[in-house]
Amino acid sequence: MSERPRLTVLSGPSGVGKSTVVAHLRKVHPEVWLSVSVTTRKPRPGERHGVQYFFVEDEEFDKLVANGELLEWAEFAGNRYGTPRKAVLERLEAGEPVLLEIDLQGARQVRASMPEARLVFLAPPSWEELVRRLTGRGTEPPEVIERRLEAARVELAAEAEFDVTLVNTSVEDVGRELLALMKDS
Ligand code: ADP
Ligand code: 5GP
Repeated sequence: MSERPRLTVLSGPSGVGKSTVVAHLRKVHPEVWLSVSVTTRKPRPGERHGVQYFFVEDEEFDKLVANGELLEWAEFAGNRYGTPRKAVLERLEAGEPVLLEIDLQGARQVRASMPEARLVFLAPPSWEELVRRLTGRGTEPPEVIERRLEAARVELAAEAEFDVTLVNTSVEDVGRELLALMKDS
């Protein structure tokens, strides 16, 4: 019998609903442990340090990279994002499931360094719906949306690299499916 995958990576284009799905999952199942990433992006209204992200300056991020403190990291649409290594490894060593919500480049790095991880791709019901969601969120100016849509085209083309695809039509359904995958042996 193969070892139970303890590390689940959720990835997918910007605006597909990753944060929404994860927030819903954690509300219904507070026991699900999600890695909090470090980012150089500025907080959006309502985002809090240590909750959605650890918000840091460029110099601080440089240091984390130099000291090998990130399990993976990537530049995305002009900002850097990374997963603190220590907390993830501690959870895994304790035998607890871990969820990462990261971009495609990060997912590829995890696949390379931890091949036992399960990679889950969150897909939009359609391209038009993805554009609607990203625009409708209203958190980015038009040029940033354009950059994110460019990245989304590349990310959508990488779906086949993932172990599983979940289509985000209903947040509740995807949350249930994701939880089932995390508990799956
Ligand atoms: P991501 O984290 O992937 O960038 P968000 O979670 O911020 O995406 O979602 C982008 C927008 O899409 C938000 O306005 C969110 O409310 C909306 N959204 C997310 N999931 C759904 C869904 N299943 N149906 C309709 N709208 C959704
Ligand atoms: P946002 O700025 O919308 O919060 O996130 C932008 C993108 O960065 C999303 O695709 C998100 O999944 C990704 N991301 C968030 N945290 C990390 C991380 O730690 N590593 C990597 N590689 N990507 C991340």
